[in-house]
Amino acid sequence: MTRRKQIYEGKAKVLFEGPEPGTLVQYFKDDASANNNQKKGTITGKGVLNNRISEYLMTKLGEIGVPTHFVRRLNMREQLIREVEIIPLEIIVRNVAAGSISKRLGIPEGTTLPRSIVEFCYKADELGDPFVSEEHITAFGWATPQELDEIMSLSLRINDFLCGLFLGVGIRLIDFKLEFGRYYNQNDEMSIILADEISPDSCRLWDVRTNDKMDKDRFRKDLGGVAEAYQEVAQRLGILPESGPRDMPGPKVMQ
Ligand code: UDP
Repeated sequence: MTRRKQIYEGKAKVLFEGPEPGTLVQYFKDDASANNNQKKGTITGKGVLNNRISEYLMTKLGEIGVPTHFVRRLNMREQLIREVEIIPLEIIVRNVAAGSISKRLGIPEGTTLPRSIVEFCYKADELGDPFVSEEHITAFGWATPQELDEIMSLSLRINDFLCGLFLGVGIRLIDFKLEFGRYYNQNDEMSIILADEISPDSCRLWDVRTNDKMDKDRFRKDLGGVAEAYQEVAQRLGILPESGPRDMPGPKVMQ
């Protein structure tokens, strides 16, 4: 296969030109970064697991009517996606205090929030993705008020759905980050769709019984067992068999 043209390389993913106009190929790397790129490392097998986990979650969200960029998985590390114009915002949805909200507001980590809270950060690495308000977003034209309403309501729907889905497999969805994009169909009509990825890189996931972290905080805080935690998330979701990716049974011969 001829190597496709690279469009963009981020910290954990690479985007290539897709096979048809309006599509891209999203490649998941094993690279990990934290603290605005101050900490870097490799988590062996992470890209393969995140490709599968994000495929699974985006497919499930698609089934309940949430529009996403996911088209289909191509192989172990790549998925075909719809090309969108990325809205330069990180949408953070929180159910339980952890990470930056605990630091900023002095709320002990693990405190259940009075209700789900949506926050926005402006996507700008050189500025460290600063926290911004709806006022900044609309005044600077990063998104219109209508787009922001759509983003908020989709984000809360996604949160409700994912909370239930994860709880069903013994995992608490503490918080997560979403990105949205503008998708233009053949008639040039625009809609807001979910983009990027949903994986243990972008979510905080705690075991319901033990509160053990099953996400990128294991890397951020040097807790060890990072790949194992990602694998456990995949196994609980039923994506991987108990014994892990190397022991996947081959296709069954149908009589
Ligand atoms: N997050 C992310 N990418 C970022 C920043 C945050 O995926 O650039 C996710 C993070 O994994 C967590 C949630 O968003 O699930 C909230 O992160 P927080 O604002 O607490 O920032 P952190 O403590 O990770 O710096």
